[in-house]
Amino acid sequence: VAEADAIAETVEGLRDVGRLFHDRGWSLGTSSNYSVVLGREPLRLLLTASGKDKRLLRETDFVVVDEAGQPVSATAERPSAETALHTMLARRPEVGAVLHTHSVWSTLLSDLHADAGALEVEGYEMLKGLSGVATHEHRERVPIFANGQDVPALARQVREQLPADAHGFLLRRHGLYTWGRDLAEARRHVEIFEFLFEVLGRRLSLRGA
Ligand SMILES: [Zn+2]
Repeated sequence: VAEADAIAETVEGLRDVGRLFHDRGWSLGTSSNYSVVLGREPLRLLLTASGKDKRLLRETDFVVVDEAGQPVSATAERPSAETALHTMLARRPEVGAVLHTHSVWSTLLSDLHADAGALEVEGYEMLKGLSGVATHEHRERVPIFANGQDVPALARQVREQLPADAHGFLLRRHGLYTWGRDLAEARRHVEIFEFLFEVLGRRLSLRGA
């Protein structure tokens, strides 16, 4: 019963995330996927099922998957197409939740900065919303990876190249992946990154620089 309660609470938390992120335009048209670590030995991940409207997530729009991204019990739902990225990140001991969004600003900026291999953000107060960042003078380097439909290959590439101190990464013309110790921290990181991306994007629009 305790486990069922924990899953129900997590589902409610993710439905809330879906409503907020859809309303903010970060998870439109069934895009995005979200996951929370339920257990570690063995790894169990509660993940949004494939093709669901994030504004209207139902209690049944989730699957529990194992380390290989396979559903642990019989279900008609398919795990998200991007499951391998979630399971790869969830193997990091400090990661308790992974959130992925498709915003306009992350789509544009990941394209604009793709040749540099990363987007760098420095000097903004909101940077302090990232875990462990104590000053606005912090420089956050957000790696940008080429988008790809072979998600397991993409997950291997990210695992090999992602710096240990990263708070998130971008897929080119696609969106943001970020994470946290728990769902609340991961959600805060999405809000912080999307705020910063919008600031950088609007600044470019306003000043052309
Ligand atoms: Zn995606």
